[in-house]
Amino acid sequence: MKLSKPQDVLLLGPGPSPVHPRILEAMSQHTLGHLDPDFLSIADQTNTLLRQVFETKNQITFPVSGTGSAGMEAALVNIVEPGDKIVIGINGVFGQRMSDVASRCGAEVVEVNSEWGKPIETEEFEKVMVNHNHVSLIGVVHAETSTGVRQPLEPLVELARKYNALLLVDTVTSLGGLPVSVDDRDLDLVYSGNQKCLGAPPGLAPITFGERAMQKFMNRKTKVQSWYLDLSFLTRYWGQERLYHHTAPINMIYALFEALSIINEEGLSNRFARHDQNSKALIAGLQALGIKTVVAENYRLPSLNAVWIPEGIDDQEVRTRLRQNHMIEIGGGLGPFNGKVWRIGLMGHGSKRENVEKLIKALGEELNTLGHHCSAEEALLESGKIYLD
Ligand SMILES: *Cc1c(COP(=O)(O)O)cnc(C)c1O
Repeated sequence: MKLSKPQDVLLLGPGPSPVHPRILEAMSQHTLGHLDPDFLSIADQTNTLLRQVFETKNQITFPVSGTGSAGMEAALVNIVEPGDKIVIGINGVFGQRMSDVASRCGAEVVEVNSEWGKPIETEEFEKVMVNHNHVSLIGVVHAETSTGVRQPLEPLVELARKYNALLLVDTVTSLGGLPVSVDDRDLDLVYSGNQKCLGAPPGLAPITFGERAMQKFMNRKTKVQSWYLDLSFLTRYWGQERLYHHTAPINMIYALFEALSIINEEGLSNRFARHDQNSKALIAGLQALGIKTVVAENYRLPSLNAVWIPEGIDDQEVRTRLRQNHMIEIGGGLGPFNGKVWRIGLMGHGSKRENVEKLIKALGEELNTLGHHCSAEEALLESGKIYLD
């Protein structure tokens, strides 16, 4: 059998995002041993670069082997002990997943359920905190990929400090695309994933543990339920000791190293500005096509744009046509948004003007074919105005 060469599909969905050719090339280099001094030096440099994108001095910062969900699991399994009371904010699929993982760790989970497409109000969390003693952790999704909502973090940090709880933040769709600022915001425990705004292929989940989170970990009375994700083993490999635990995914780490180097060369603030501008240009264009956004302007993610599918237009039909006729992938809606919402990702290397324009043109064309009349030329003009500022 021979691998049929994958086509060059433009990935404008909820992830994975387009991978820079430099990263693919880095991945195809010779596989070294996981204790080889040259590899260990790459591993150390990767962690240094990771601290730069997390904007943290946290010693315990490294990539977990596995996708973003492994980062979520690694955070919870190490910090939560059976019987711990924890509060999870849910306004989409990933908050729900966090709650599921936490309950599997034996936590008593108190859910703060809130409307999809909106951030969760701080008062909703506060109500729960007032009514429950000894909450050890508040968990929240910074960038809810299922809805395109950005959750403001500052008020939750304040709340966590007030009630002496840790704040756990999922930054899978924000790290590398919008500010996460772990140390400035005083976030305790943060994880992400390779394949969204960091722009590498799926396979690693960067994570960082702050001092308070490490205290909670060291004070555990019970064994971590997961052997694979037990932080005490992982830090012995990633730290000075270099003790074998599981084989590091060598070539994936080359990929992450390269992705982080690209981010370092661009600079975080340039990168955030680029994500912001392209998202605004996309939204301006889509609005000119008669498409409405799901999220209010102040809470929109630059990395993931959720829009309502126009009346009378079939979700699957459009996405199939985009893939077949234009080689573009966009995402459909999940849960209550299924069939109602498109999710358009502009993440990492994928966030660029050329891609914004390709999508506006292709979508305009297909919508007209299907009876939703609109002008792609006009939409391109509206979108172009954003780049003049
Ligand atoms: C994609 C995503 C995850 C899960 O990552 P996987 O790589 O699919 O395991 C978790 N949280 C958020 C917010 C995500 O967007």
